[in-house]
Amino acid sequence: MKRFIYADNAATTKLNKEAFEAMIPWLTEEYGNASQPYAFARKPKKALADARATIASCINASPDEIFFTSGGTESDNWAIKGAAFSGKPGCEVITSSIEHHAILRTCESIERLGFPVKYLDVTHTGIITPKTLNDVITDRTRLVSIMLANNEIGTIQPIKELSDIAHSFGALFHTDAVQAVGHVPIDVKALGVDMLSASAHKFNGPKGVGFLYIRNGVSITPYANGGSQEHGTRAGTENVAGIVGMAKALEINCERMQESVEHLKSLETNLMTLLSNDKIDFIRNGDSNHLPGNLNLSFCGCNGESLLHRLDLMGIAVSTGSACDSVNTQLSHVIQAIGVDEKYAFGTIRISLSPDNSIDDIKAIANAIVKIIIK
Ligand code: PLP
Repeated sequence: MKRFIYADNAATTKLNKEAFEAMIPWLTEEYGNASQPYAFARKPKKALADARATIASCINASPDEIFFTSGGTESDNWAIKGAAFSGKPGCEVITSSIEHHAILRTCESIERLGFPVKYLDVTHTGIITPKTLNDVITDRTRLVSIMLANNEIGTIQPIKELSDIAHSFGALFHTDAVQAVGHVPIDVKALGVDMLSASAHKFNGPKGVGFLYIRNGVSITPYANGGSQEHGTRAGTENVAGIVGMAKALEINCERMQESVEHLKSLETNLMTLLSNDKIDFIRNGDSNHLPGNLNLSFCGCNGESLLHRLDLMGIAVSTGSACDSVNTQLSHVIQAIGVDEKYAFGTIRISLSPDNSIDDIKAIANAIVKIIIK
């Protein structure tokens, strides 16, 4: 039987078995609504409080700074709209040109409402330099939102330096840490962020649940009006099972982080060596300070989308940095922003490994790429 190799962990991850097991009681016998005053609601209420405390301790926050959401997209929407709508009329937002569409499309939507947005350029390795921010920030800036790690190229940003600049102009600082939480150590205090977005399915938790960290003392408009859940800021009956699963998955990922990072780094090195040994003409995009397991590779004279489909036929799931419509092949906004040479840019794929991947997977991926490109 053909082996299946999953190497698209930046898109989503496998649900951790222990996290799944922790969710079961809240989907079956303990189905009470945590907002009710009677005894049957006590256990779900406590489960939510415990999950909040676990998540807070994983990122060095206080439990009352963790607000549950439906995932990364909602957390990003809330941070941007909540900051803009609670600022002075016409206040501005600064973000970068390589953010996820959850940020970019949200920024476009507030622009249509009269909030100016500035988009910062990045270096060839995908870094937003403190100087770039310093050059455009003003005392009208209400929010600076820069992702912690890029979902395509994995580049990790100098968040502390950027948040210091934002604060020196009286602005709030938000980071979309959806790709980073559960994969690299996160300390919201050391990073100096006011808000941070996360999504459970990116760290082996369930889909459709996430959180927004909002530092104590920061006041933004509520995301959803209705019931008084999440201190009256995000109405809606809580997804108790999802939240419990998210907390368990994050706790486990944080405990195993060092071991996972070492394993992933060794897999990365092996893949690079195998491809180079076979004289494949490719470049690796992104910065040396990147997410563990992320390999964004551009192959000279290739087409990323056809590479993806051919790998798929060989049982290997990866992602691409370009997409074809019926007429053109379009480069992703990130590959465009870092200015990858055209000879390589259209042949971009993203391989995102997980600790479950083995050296045999790496050999199979390298063999498959070599077979497609050379043979
Ligand atoms: N932000 C980043 C950087 C992402 O990679 C993603 C998902 O790919 C999101 C936001 C959206 O997260 P979700 O899928 O939980 O809505």
